[in-house]
Amino acid sequence: MASAPVRVRFCPSPTGNPHVGLVRTALFNWAYARRHQGTLVFRIEDTDAARDSEESYQQLLDAMRWLGFDWDEGPEVGGPHAPYRQSERMDIYRDVAQKLLDGGHAYHCYCSTEELDERREAARAAGRPSGYDGHCRELTAEQVAAYEAEGRRPIVRFRMPDTPITFDDLVRGELTFTPENVPDYGIVRANGAPLYTLVNPVDDALMEITHVLRGEDLLSSTPRQIALYGALIELGVAKAVPAFGHLPYVMGEGNKKLSKRDPQASLNLYREQGFLPEGLLNYLSLLGWSLSADRDVFSIEEMVAAFDLKDVNPNPARFDLKKCEAINGDHIRMLDPKEFAARCEPWLRAPFAPWAPEDFDEAKWAAIAPHAQTRLRMLAEITANVDFLFLPEPVFDEASWSKAMKEGSDALLRTAREKLEAADWSSAESLKEAVLAAGEAHGLKLGKAQAPVRVAVTGRTVGLPLFESLEVLGKEKTLARVDAALARLAA
Ligand code: GLU
Ligand code: ZN
Repeated sequence: MASAPVRVRFCPSPTGNPHVGLVRTALFNWAYARRHQGTLVFRIEDTDAARDSEESYQQLLDAMRWLGFDWDEGPEVGGPHAPYRQSERMDIYRDVAQKLLDGGHAYHCYCSTEELDERREAARAAGRPSGYDGHCRELTAEQVAAYEAEGRRPIVRFRMPDTPITFDDLVRGELTFTPENVPDYGIVRANGAPLYTLVNPVDDALMEITHVLRGEDLLSSTPRQIALYGALIELGVAKAVPAFGHLPYVMGEGNKKLSKRDPQASLNLYREQGFLPEGLLNYLSLLGWSLSADRDVFSIEEMVAAFDLKDVNPNPARFDLKKCEAINGDHIRMLDPKEFAARCEPWLRAPFAPWAPEDFDEAKWAAIAPHAQTRLRMLAEITANVDFLFLPEPVFDEASWSKAMKEGSDALLRTAREKLEAADWSSAESLKEAVLAAGEAHGLKLGKAQAPVRVAVTGRTVGLPLFESLEVLGKEKTLARVDAALARLAA
């Protein structure tokens, strides 16, 4: 028998900004769907009116598009299980909750928060399991009437089976949860609002999801959902329990779990710094997975072709920003030169660029771009690397100035100026020889000799290859800047 077509889902809640953990989950689901010619369902879990926002919803869509993910069902594309925003599916949840109540799979619980807290404390003190104690499992009609007369409004609570729940996690292997650890749980609030605990598995069932791939933080909800699935199958709402796979935790600085509130976790930050979507996705794929032991840099197509859940490692993955930047740099190098220049565009314009728009020079940009492509780790670095070309004066980094301008720098600069004046300005090699010769005249190696020249011309000690930079800037401006530096040194 051919196995059923793969149907996976990505189902974020629109709260706050998209973060890298979310992107990793989206990536693994997307790759799994594409690898198996399956279907990716994109669902918006916006049942928490107090926390969800339209802005966050728009950001999620925008993030998915920027990352290059396509989805087969969901917002903007529709599909056979529409709508895909849970806020538009409330009738469905009300209906299923009623069926669960009618079938005896769920019951009304009248316990107040204070009563629950009190009993939990008492259980803890006595060393008993501290989850819900089943108080309202078998209320009589009289008890119900009495609670109602008191004006209490019940929540709906799901009745967990009294037997252990075992499942084969696609990443972690067989896992068993005993009943003491998974007590009956709420599925509808007292005000009638359905909870994540209900809507998430109900939608997975109705949307015929075959594989649930999500973060390890949701592992504790899996036995509950499997039990709920059992009830849904009995009621004819679900067909089969999906397979579950829990992706490893991502650790940030100081070996703490990367939280979505960590600045380092914000997707927008990576976008602003000029990470390429392909570079970021390449790095995020390594958080729990690898293509092979000796290859860290690969394309998204290569990832999809090789992606297998068997290779997902259950151990926590460490988010290593340096490595993320290095891999992004490798992807910058892999771009077609024209494409590289085009992707730099936003950082060559306002609000990032400090120069006047009319001072931007296409020809100079075209000449310097190839030298930048070999150097950058993130596209946003382009602005500071080329500003010396488009600003009337370099922006002096004072720390660079004091580091490079030492005793004797003026003499060196004067000699360099002479040699540069006489050099062939159509060749970076000739400019290098000029500075080399100036250094020799003062007993300095090239590295030491070029530092004051670089600071005089670009304002900084680090930057793009110097002689190519001088060539692109041109003789007149280069010599004028050396003169200005000499004047400053003399002052
Ligand atoms: N909306 C849930 C979340 O963002 C989805 C969890 C799941 O994948 O089941 O945490
Ligand atoms: Zn109760």
